Amino acid sequence: MNTAAIIRAAQFAAEKHKNQRRKDVDASPYINHPLALASALAVEGGVENPDVICAALLHDTIEDTNTTASELEAIFGAKVTSIVLEVTDDKSLAKAVRKEEQVRHAPLISPEAQLVKLADKICNLRDILASPPADWTAERKKDYFDWAARVVAGVRGIHPRLETIFDGLNSRQSELL
Ligand code: ZN
Repeated sequence: MNTAAIIRAAQFAAEKHKNQRRKDVDASPYINHPLALASALAVEGGVENPDVICAALLHDTIEDTNTTASELEAIFGAKVTSIVLEVTDDKSLAKAVRKEEQVRHAPLISPEAQLVKLADKICNLRDILASPPADWTAERKKDYFDWAARVVAGVRGIHPRLETIFDGLNSRQSELL
């Protein structure tokens, strides 16, 4: 494990997301989300590839902060940067189009990016079950669950244990109020 790179990625993400909050009622610090992905992968999934863990920590920096690909590349190298780019939505597209693009794209991205994508969906379902965005209706939550299942269908086989965790969460739709 490249421990130094992982700590540097955690620190970089914390700095970039320092003024952002999650949409839950408590407005949790945003950094909790990338840390949750890294934990799902490393702790629950036993994933040991440091490029995957670093990319998980950095996965929202280009999409949601002023971070550029060249900035990531200079610090974390080409592989980590390419994984992050593979899971970065094109924000010039309308939201509905972006969501369909994720479904279409999921089977085509690298195995490393598929792991990050799977962990992202696990963490988002967990957040919606435990502390959902304050203004989301039950229908919006269910729509998210259904869409996440369509994205994950495109990465099946990448990590059966994490897929089972995803399926367990996705089966809890009846708890969404
Ligand atoms: Zn995310």
